[in-house]
Amino acid sequence: MQTIRDLGVTPEDQARIDIEPDVQSYVWRRSTTDLYIRSKPGPVFYLLACAISFWLAGYIQQSWWVMLAPTIAFGVLGYLRIAHKPPEAHAAQQVFERWKQVHWTYIHIGSVLWSVIAVTIGWLEREPNQAVIVSVITTITFSTAASHAFAMHPLHARICVMELILPSILLYIFGTKNLQATGITLCIFFGYLLLNVRTTIREYQKQIDVEVMLIRSRAEISSLSMTDALTGLPNRRKYEQAWQSIWYMAARKQEVLGLIVVDLDHFKHINDEFGHLAGDTCLQHFAEILKRHVRRDSDIAARIGGEEFVIIMPTCGKVQLIQVAENLRADLQKTPCQLGAVQIVFTASMGTGVVDWKNDDSPDLTFERIDKACYQAKASGRNRVVAV
Ligand code: GH3
Ligand code: MG
Ligand code: MG
Repeated sequence: MQTIRDLGVTPEDQARIDIEPDVQSYVWRRSTTDLYIRSKPGPVFYLLACAISFWLAGYIQQSWWVMLAPTIAFGVLGYLRIAHKPPEAHAAQQVFERWKQVHWTYIHIGSVLWSVIAVTIGWLEREPNQAVIVSVITTITFSTAASHAFAMHPLHARICVMELILPSILLYIFGTKNLQATGITLCIFFGYLLLNVRTTIREYQKQIDVEVMLIRSRAEISSLSMTDALTGLPNRRKYEQAWQSIWYMAARKQEVLGLIVVDLDHFKHINDEFGHLAGDTCLQHFAEILKRHVRRDSDIAARIGGEEFVIIMPTCGKVQLIQVAENLRADLQKTPCQLGAVQIVFTASMGTGVVDWKNDDSPDLTFERIDKACYQAKASGRNRVVAV
């Protein structure tokens, strides 16, 4: 089976692949949260504008209950908009989509309700008096606000602007004599708003792109700080983090947890004989062999020192560990590192062992025991595996 490593994916690419689900969820979360926050105050302003216009037209003075229906309608709408909270950050895309559909329904109901009020005032007044002026100004304000605030969903933003302003335009131009000039002016402003929505959408998108770029580069930097530049393997810092967390997780359930410590034999001689660059190539050569032997996603092979490596193998018992270490040792011995015409054969000594939950009090103690086994392998002649 081919893995991503065999396909030549760099650590930078891997970091990008790993972060992609987080980026997606960030973008969904960002647009839904923006929609939620920006739609919250709408009903309050609609109700306020309605009360001022009705007062100026003298309706409230005639009978206060004209405000009853708008108050209930915008009150309920305000409550629904606040109570309908965005989904959790890691919810599925369908959950975000469903949430958006419902929330947009609340927003459209609000703009249609406002249009009903504005058209009612225009229809009853039919002349540019104070009440009509206030309703026209607030209609302009609401549609401008919608074109700015709802840039995250272009189609809905445009529909919202139309719902707010088109009924008034149609009424003033075709249904009244004294408000036609206002209707034409509103119509010109409507055209400007539709164009303006395009600009705001682009700016909103640019802002999101910059944020996504920042998230990606932060993930990339964090991944690179955990990667050994020469071999592409996880480095000592990553190993220490992983070993600690895997060790304590396994400790809770007293699960089998294996570790292999590897030290290349007489590596100094390779550097002395063939040069440091050749030594580097040998390290890369060994890392490639090591990657071939560490196939499970749960296993972690890391370079923890100059020519020292480890393999963390969760749920791996003693016999399996020895088998993996022996196969690795034999593979290295029979696969020389090719350097032009020169072939460099080198070997490795290894210590293997599983965590002893009775006696190992910490991840460091387990490591020390298995590292000592590696030294025993050295002391007893090198190119061998010692299990503890
Ligand atoms: P032993 O079998 O006892 O482990 O012998 P050794 O020579 O491998 O051990 P020693 O600890 O004496 O030397 C390790 C050598 O590994 C010394 C150092 O030059 C070399 N080394 C460490 N890191 C690098 C590296 O990044 N590149 C190269 N080319 N050599 C390295
Ligand atoms: Mg060493
Ligand atoms: Mg060595």
